[in-house]
Amino acid sequence: MNDQPTFRFAPSPNGALHLGHAYSAILNFELAQATGGRFLVRVEDIDTARCTPLLEAAMFEDLAWLDLEWEPPVLRQSKRFGLYQEMLDILQDQGLIYPSFLSRGEIKQHVKAQPSWPRDPDGAPLYPGLERDWSEAERATAMKSGKPYAWRLNMKQALALHPIAGAEAWGDVVLGRKETPTSYHLSVVVDDAAQGVTHVVRGRDLEASTSIHLLLQKLLGLPSPHYKHHRLILDDQGERLSKSVKSTAIKALRDDGASVADIHHLIGWNDSEVEAYL
Ligand code: GLU
Repeated sequence: MNDQPTFRFAPSPNGALHLGHAYSAILNFELAQATGGRFLVRVEDIDTARCTPLLEAAMFEDLAWLDLEWEPPVLRQSKRFGLYQEMLDILQDQGLIYPSFLSRGEIKQHVKAQPSWPRDPDGAPLYPGLERDWSEAERATAMKSGKPYAWRLNMKQALALHPIAGAEAWGDVVLGRKETPTSYHLSVVVDDAAQGVTHVVRGRDLEASTSIHLLLQKLLGLPSPHYKHHRLILDDQGERLSKSVKSTAIKALRDDGASVADIHHLIGWNDSEVEAYL
């Protein structure tokens, strides 16, 4: 059993790393340094269409340029679909997930007539759950029809087993899809456990998701790490940074002659920041 504090940086290589990623990576690296712990990097590339080897290589170049060192091996989620499928199977055996068939457009259409339809913390309408109580036969027929589907958690049932505050706000979240046996929520939970991550320190934009992760850990019998959520780096307009904006990309700043010290300055880095997370 590894009792060393273990931190991680888990980017998705679907665009260029920006100052917000630099902050998160530096913070986790420094936390590992300060605690005599481990710093791991995980590639969250389940979206194999948008995450490319080229973007991944560029990401590692940026991280190395930032003087960060991570413990090998790097875990790549796109290589772990078999394990995620096993986890989905466990949830399916417990009757906790169901195949759902409404597209995003169909969900919109369904909730349109109902102005007070609840929305999740990201602003998306909660899934209507029309298929929740289908029989096995109905599910099998629909799955064979060729229509795309997503495996969704029956949130009400899951919360009856493990009441985790905040998770109900998300409704029946997607845990897998017809073509990809996982989702962000499922793979992040499975892999934090697989890598022995003890401390998840990530942006405040993911704070609301933590309730889903705590719930999935309970359902799958996995340990829960400590969670802390850090400030977000904003642009001059006070908006969150986006991977599509060039000017705050690490690579663009490097090409402009920025040093690592300049990056530290741009993210408002202060060595004493680590104390807030220990
Ligand atoms: N892969 C996620 C992202 O790029 C972060 C996952 C996490 O830190 O839990 O935003």
